[in-house]
Amino acid sequence: MQQILGQSYYFPSQVAIGGYKVGNQLLLIDTGNDDSSIRKAIRGFENIEVVAIFNTHSHADHCGGNAYIQKQYHAPVYCPELEQDFVQNPILEPTYLYGAYPIETLKNKFLMAKPSKVTHLVDSEAPICVSFNGENHSFTPISLKGHSPNQYGFITPDGIAYLGDALISTEMVTKHPLIFTYHVAEHYKSLERLKTLSAKGFVIAHGGYYDQIDALITSNIQALNATQSLLLNALDQSPHTFDQLHEMLYTAYDLNETVPLHILNRSVLKAHIAYLVDLKLVQLDVEQGKIILKK
Ligand SMILES: [Zn+2]
Repeated sequence: MQQILGQSYYFPSQVAIGGYKVGNQLLLIDTGNDDSSIRKAIRGFENIEVVAIFNTHSHADHCGGNAYIQKQYHAPVYCPELEQDFVQNPILEPTYLYGAYPIETLKNKFLMAKPSKVTHLVDSEAPICVSFNGENHSFTPISLKGHSPNQYGFITPDGIAYLGDALISTEMVTKHPLIFTYHVAEHYKSLERLKTLSAKGFVIAHGGYYDQIDALITSNIQALNATQSLLLNALDQSPHTFDQLHEMLYTAYDLNETVPLHILNRSVLKAHIAYLVDLKLVQLDVEQGKIILKK
């Protein structure tokens, strides 16, 4: 892991893993995709003892290494309420994406982590005290819902904010402009919240360490806005089915889809439609076996 400031560290990889180290004791912020990702993240430290895990949210690439750490170190797991159900019962993730017991191809390690046991619930922004060698250190949770149902970021006593997937890098937004969202209104709210969040530095899971996040916030907001505009423009022309809107996004974004990616993208499309329905900009009807969306 690389030191950012004081006791705050991160391991740069496809999914950045956070660390806070006091002596030989380490707290992890997310654990990557599997045993091997978390082992790689901590192997640079000698005689390290993991004293706790904070999970920002339940996506498999953030909690997939929990099981290994719990087995090795019996570390407690702090996880946001609601997200904990998915961490403990990973079949829920592909189930909610598919809408029923999932097809086999969705039960992969990117959508279904190894199960682990949550020992502490995070359900407010009240500071969390963790003991390192008998000394208490206080971490501040920050509610960052939207990308997932109840995501939280965590600020270390050094003032480094670990934001999970509340933001993704501008490079990634450019590459995958249909950014993953579960609740668009909450996602926008969290992005606004980040504009005023005071911290000395920021770690985002898909992007790494940043001193400043203003430009990232703008690119993430623009990406959500662009998807909304594409959908509203299409619906201005004529009513559409979900399949037709999906095909429109496929063309507009030049998507490269496998079955699991199609199902993930469909979930993002449905999140945007739910937002537009809440705003009373879109209505749903059912006709001859098809949901019809219209303005
Ligand atoms: Zn995520």
